[in-house]
Amino acid sequence: MTDESPSRLTSDDHLGRVLLSEEQLAQRIIEIGEQVTEDYAGRRPLLVCVLRGAYAFCTELAFSIDLPVEIDFIAVSSYGSSTRTSGVVRLVKDLDVDLSGRDVILVEDIVDTGLTLRYLRRSLEARGPASLEVCTLLARESADLEGLGVRYVGFTIPGDFVVGFGLDAAERYRNLRYLAVYEPEDH
Ligand code: 5GP
Repeated sequence: MTDESPSRLTSDDHLGRVLLSEEQLAQRIIEIGEQVTEDYAGRRPLLVCVLRGAYAFCTELAFSIDLPVEIDFIAVSSYGSSTRTSGVVRLVKDLDVDLSGRDVILVEDIVDTGLTLRYLRRSLEARGPASLEVCTLLARESADLEGLGVRYVGFTIPGDFVVGFGLDAAERYRNLRYLAVYEPEDH
């Protein structure tokens, strides 16, 4: 579908401007995949997908990596159904795979305050991986990416709350192929 206007799936809702089109996302993810392929040549990285927001990104990223990757899933919650972080990160689903000695790439949807990432890093580092890198589709301009040790970033974006391509607002909009700004009722 090339029409990037709010689609029939979501026409009753609060979608603002398209921030990143399907094509822009696809192109950048291919680039990141090529970079990962180069950086991890000869290795077998484990992609740790942070549910639920990173599922779409992780799927596309894995398709773009020309290495024998493995994938596992972890789920955390810090937002509930709100668009504001609760300030408390909770582990909702743990990994099945043992991380010891593995080359782990943590795949995130968006780094905002960095709270989620700090929590996940601590938790995963404690399990003795051979290496741990972070790959995020999006990062806020305000995020301290260096301090948080983020190696791969798709796009840096301003402060608007965004939805689509895996990201939700109260569980909606994850199935959009593009990313749009969310405009709540009281906007
Ligand atoms: P942080 O802990 O870095 O403040 O927030 C990271 C998490 O908050 C992300 O993994 C994501 O689930 C959620 N989040 C932050 N900003 C946005 C946003 O603009 N849209 C959506 N849908 N989720 C966001």
